[in-house]
Amino acid sequence: MGSVNSQQKASSAKRSRHSDSYRYQYVVGEDSVIKQLNNGSHEHTYKSVDDYDMESLDSDDVKVLHLSAVPYYVADPQIVGSYYCGGRFSKCSLGTIIFESLVITSLIIALAFAHVKVEACPKEEYSHAEDVLKPLTCTENICMEAVGDILSKMNTSVDPCEDFYTYACGNFVDKQFLSPSQSTVSSMSALSDANLQVVYMGLVDKNRTKLFGKESTALRKARKLHELCMDMKTLQLQGAAPLVKAMETFGSWPVSQEEFNASSWNFSDQLLKLHAHSFTPLLSFVVYSDEKNSSAYSIYFGQSGLTLQSEKSYNITLDPKRNSALRKAVIDYGVAVGSILGVSENVTRTVMEEIYDFEAKLAAINVPIEYLRNPTLCYHKVSVGEVQKIFNSTLDLLPFLHAMMNRTDLTANTTLITCSKPYVDNLKPILDEYLQGDKQRILNNYLVWKLVDYSVDHLGADFQFSKLILKEVSQGVNNLGERWKDCTDAVGGKMDRVTGALFVEGRFGTDERNAVLKMLSQVKDTLTDNFPGYKWMDKKTTEAAIEKAKAVLLQAGFPDYITDAKEVDDHYKDLESFDTYFDFLLHYNRWYRLFNSAKLDKQPDRKEWQMSASIVNAYYSSWTYGGMGAVIGHELIHGFDDQGSQYDLHGNLNNWWTNDSVKAFREASQCIVNQYSNYKMGGTPVNGQLTLGENLADNGGLSIAYKAYLQSVEDNNIKPMMLPGLDFTDRQLFFLSFAQVWCQRATPEHAQSSLYYDPHSPPKYRVQGTFSNSREFAQAFQCKAGSSYNPHYKCKVW
Ligand SMILES: [Zn+2]
Repeated sequence: MGSVNSQQKASSAKRSRHSDSYRYQYVVGEDSVIKQLNNGSHEHTYKSVDDYDMESLDSDDVKVLHLSAVPYYVADPQIVGSYYCGGRFSKCSLGTIIFESLVITSLIIALAFAHVKVEACPKEEYSHAEDVLKPLTCTENICMEAVGDILSKMNTSVDPCEDFYTYACGNFVDKQFLSPSQSTVSSMSALSDANLQVVYMGLVDKNRTKLFGKESTALRKARKLHELCMDMKTLQLQGAAPLVKAMETFGSWPVSQEEFNASSWNFSDQLLKLHAHSFTPLLSFVVYSDEKNSSAYSIYFGQSGLTLQSEKSYNITLDPKRNSALRKAVIDYGVAVGSILGVSENVTRTVMEEIYDFEAKLAAINVPIEYLRNPTLCYHKVSVGEVQKIFNSTLDLLPFLHAMMNRTDLTANTTLITCSKPYVDNLKPILDEYLQGDKQRILNNYLVWKLVDYSVDHLGADFQFSKLILKEVSQGVNNLGERWKDCTDAVGGKMDRVTGALFVEGRFGTDERNAVLKMLSQVKDTLTDNFPGYKWMDKKTTEAAIEKAKAVLLQAGFPDYITDAKEVDDHYKDLESFDTYFDFLLHYNRWYRLFNSAKLDKQPDRKEWQMSASIVNAYYSSWTYGGMGAVIGHELIHGFDDQGSQYDLHGNLNNWWTNDSVKAFREASQCIVNQYSNYKMGGTPVNGQLTLGENLADNGGLSIAYKAYLQSVEDNNIKPMMLPGLDFTDRQLFFLSFAQVWCQRATPEHAQSSLYYDPHSPPKYRVQGTFSNSREFAQAFQCKAGSSYNPHYKCKVW
């Protein structure tokens, strides 16, 4: 589901700017992250982080060296064709998530019982002391529905101690309908779809002109954009015309040897035009809050995305069968697009082969994802002048930046922050090679391919179908997605404040918000209380950790500004409406680039929300600690995972650990790395390093949520709530509920691809990995020591 939206500003009057009560920002919403990942590609390396010369770094700079990747959150999904964060996943994730306030911006909670409403099962009063130990059974309708939902996912013929994932999700995995246009379907996706429907209904309601009772011009623009997107008939009739017109500005594609005129081609002009419209071939630039100074903005730059999701995919020898098939698919896809444009197959095939080979060279020099994940190691300041020296005469950086960002005040001394300096160093000789003779034509074709590849999704059905050639091989998808979903997503990705408002109005009430906040606060308290119990952490670090946890502001639901129609309108005031979809999109891309660039003159707003409220969803009921509680715990633990632990309570990249505690943390984390590296999917091992942050969060989240649950039962003196017809104790339900959050059916292609780029472990191992480390799970299900889910050796960090 949906868009991850940046640039939203909360304006909660309740929070003071100077208060320490909000420091970190957390984003809950796993599937939206995955969606964004699909746009770009960053993990390629076989070079482990350990190969980097960490010892040479200032010891103050190195807090935690266990790296992995949580490209968990992407700053600017609008920047097409690549990540805005310049391959700096750590920037994408933590810059976004943690740099400022710890705000639970958005909760996509995939509860096993998504439709259970707030306070679903009313707490009953107990007057008889003798009843105290007798559990209660909830017989409300919603509890009955929850039972149906839980049972429908399970395969009870499996031994829960040997394969709890299949026990909890087996029926879902086997029987859930996966349409030809889907690569996965999960507990979460059903919830996302329901949210999307609410937004869709708001966008297509012709009589609707108001947001929260006030006329809204932004709503009109969003509705127009949506209408143009939905009008497949017109898109089909327009055919290639919008793309052909765009090529007048951005350059032709595909250009054969006979057609190319080197004397009329200018590399930097073409690059500039594309970047100014948020197409980011070769490099990416984004204005983002400085990770070591969360009160200022800086320009981040680095490597950009590729056509395939993972750099690894360009390495044929790594996985010859799969990667050769992907190579062929990229080329065939381009050939199909060429044929719609009326170009002969021979010409396009040659051009696509050249493009692929060029991209493979870029893939080979991409800085590895494991490295990008470490915000401290990634924080390199360079001046424009220094980068200019690297590029020399190849690219005149200052005028380029000025034109792209529509400003004139940058100088050779202007600071850039990058994680990808080795990439830039290595890019220069490649560019020089391709700025000679006929290779210039290949470079032209590659640059414009970024536009073409982007356009395909936004033109008529012929174009969209051509991309299925690639999607089938990479994701196992062989049909177009449902248009209403694609268009609602597309509008949400661009005008998130409008879709967020539509969602809040249509769905998210204060009851839900309060219920979530209540649980957030319980889980947070449990985490804070827990710190002194971590024996590997010394006193000084423990105290600092408690301070950091206390500084977490618990916020859930939606930013208040979203309910202010005027503020929403003002935000989009310079975004114009157009009569054709493609023109609207191109204008939007330019608008967005300028919007982002203008931030350089501002101060980061700590209240800025990074995710649209329309992807918010949270439900609460007394036994949902295993679902929502654990997801909340997961997000809180991210503040103390391998990345989050590098940020202080002010959200700045700054060490607050003693050396001894860092060492102990590394050792404890290594246990998790080793554990998950032993899990395999179709013969391919899980990347324990890549998934470390998520695994830490899963394990810690489960453990904290379980404690919070026990605590809440004790504090409130409530009886355990049972579900009718289910022979489970409340504690068993807790674990069942956690496992069912991760029920997922996926195409084999998707499951395979994810291993290369997804920072989350495969769902099966999210369950097995966490439960194997949980004595409480083994107890609840009375698993014999040594069974698959109760191994003798257990890892424990948080
Ligand atoms: Zn996570």
